[in-house]
Amino acid sequence: MEFLLTQYPRRPRLLLVDDQRINIQALYALFREQCDVFMATSGEQALQQCQKQLPDLILLDVVMPDMDGHAVCRQLKADPLTQHIPIIFITAQKSEADEVKCFELGAVDFISKPINPVIVQARVRTQLTLKLQSDLLRTQALLDGLTGVANRRRFEEELQNDWRQCLREQSALSVILLDIDHFKAYNDHYGHQRGDSTLRQVAQALAATLCRPYDLLARYGGEEFVCLLPGTGLAGAVAVAQKMEEQVRKLGLEHQGSSVAKVVTISLGVVSLVPGVGMDPQALVAAADAQLYEAKRGGRAQVSSSAGCALEPGRA
Ligand code: GH3
Ligand code: MG
Ligand code: MG
Repeated sequence: MEFLLTQYPRRPRLLLVDDQRINIQALYALFREQCDVFMATSGEQALQQCQKQLPDLILLDVVMPDMDGHAVCRQLKADPLTQHIPIIFITAQKSEADEVKCFELGAVDFISKPINPVIVQARVRTQLTLKLQSDLLRTQALLDGLTGVANRRRFEEELQNDWRQCLREQSALSVILLDIDHFKAYNDHYGHQRGDSTLRQVAQALAATLCRPYDLLARYGGEEFVCLLPGTGLAGAVAVAQKMEEQVRKLGLEHQGSSVAKVVTISLGVVSLVPGVGMDPQALVAAADAQLYEAKRGGRAQVSSSAGCALEPGRA
């Protein structure tokens, strides 16, 4: 079995769920070459397995003691984390009504037992290809093509998510907005292609300074980048920003046209606040932009920061 997506960065993960080990063994033999195969012999185990590692596809037996396949499917579809995993039911039930029921529960396909290896392989291949393609498209749609870091769209999504989470937990959310200094002059002097290459190197240096798993670096537009640091207060965010300023300067990328230094530098605006009800997350970005303006005004190649007190409700 060959998958269409040979460029996919990892092997597809297939979860086999059946209370009869012999059925699992038969399926395992069909897919072990091309897939990372996981197994569960009960509904409970299947749910646990999904929480541990998200499969790309589940082959799910319907009739099982305790929790049957329909109940497993319902639970997976009710959880935002697992609702997008495609499910193929494999069952000895053959009536049209049984098949209808499976599709109504959100399955993508239905296969009758005893299984025919050619049919199962063909249908699994189709579903895995669709799944991997849609994953790839989604990933690409959220990445910036030039620098490989997250794009503006991803940033806007994460801003909403992080805002909600920090509001719930009453923890700080920090934003760093940064911009390359005198980049127009850089392009004019060194050419647009070298400008592009510099943008990539700066993006890499910025990404390398972030170490927490929930920190996000995104290209905000042009030669501007933005960082979202959930659970990080002002002091921590300023420390990250200062490290970024230092790391970019340390790249030592020659910039004759800069009034600041003879190398490429960045200016950064930092704000932090604990979100409150009625506040607008976009105001946090606007406040970071105001700080970035201060950093430019103060002479560039520096960090300017503020606690986001001006964002409190009623103070605009
Ligand atoms: P400042 O220090 O005030 O930020 O000055 P600046 O010249 O960096 O700012 P300005 O906004 O005037 O110019 C930004 C320049 O960034 C204009 C454009 O040529 C360049 N730029 C924006 N996007 C790209 C890109 O994708 N590739 C390249 N090579 N250059 C870009
Ligand atoms: Mg600039
Ligand atoms: Mg700019």
